[in-house]
Amino acid sequence: MSQKTETLIDKNGLRIDGRRPDELRPIKVEVGVLSNADGSAYIEQGKNKILAAVYGPKELHPKHLALPDRMVLRCRYHMAPFSVQERKSPAPSRREIELSKVVREALEPAIFMEYYPRTAIDVFIEVLQADGGTRCASITVASLALADAGIPMRDLVAACSAGKVDDTIVLDLMDTEDKVGSADLPVAYMPNLGVVTLLQMDGILTLEEFEKAVNLAIDGCKRIYAMQKEALRAKYVSIKESEE
Ligand code: UDP
Repeated sequence: MSQKTETLIDKNGLRIDGRRPDELRPIKVEVGVLSNADGSAYIEQGKNKILAAVYGPKELHPKHLALPDRMVLRCRYHMAPFSVQERKSPAPSRREIELSKVVREALEPAIFMEYYPRTAIDVFIEVLQADGGTRCASITVASLALADAGIPMRDLVAACSAGKVDDTIVLDLMDTEDKVGSADLPVAYMPNLGVVTLLQMDGILTLEEFEKAVNLAIDGCKRIYAMQKEALRAKYVSIKESEE
């Protein structure tokens, strides 16, 4: 976390991109965007642009990794070299390996893993453009791709971060707010079940600020959840209409 170098909240209480503290970035979600994957989805959240593709359930190779009582979920979070200002090496970084694990652990509780013993599901996440909060947007879009692949799920997982910039608790931090602000708290949440599947924190908050930030992030997840459901509905309504 770097030293504060600029004002992130102006005298009208607005953020550098003109949002109110409790406002999400503009979000666009689409389901079924890739014809060669079993399930897919695309999200734009502010300047973030992320694709998710799902393959499976399928036989797991090497076979000794298969589990007798549940399937194995494998996730790969990858940032394209052109997704950030300073070219990123295409080789997997420590951060991408960590985020692949974080995304997998946030999604697993939503899936009926026991329905498909000895199989695997692969989730590929490609970050095409990044502007802060990509782990959350990746969870949101991967959850939609799993639903699109017809994987039985307890609920969709929606994710959103909250944090602190200039002593204000704000929702859905973009890159500058993440880097210059004083705390970032990504949350993934299953709204129908009321279960949090990811909670991380970078920075320092008082207990009061922490509670405010968690509640704000959960509120953001609920709003994103409504958009996820709408995106799923839109795909199946358009299929039904094309059949009529
Ligand atoms: N970032 C970057 N280069 C990198 C990795 C990250 O410029 O190699 C930027 C990118 O915009 C990313 C942001 O830093 O969204 C914040 O990264 P962080 O590790 O906090 O994860 P995120 O907030 O994306 O979940």
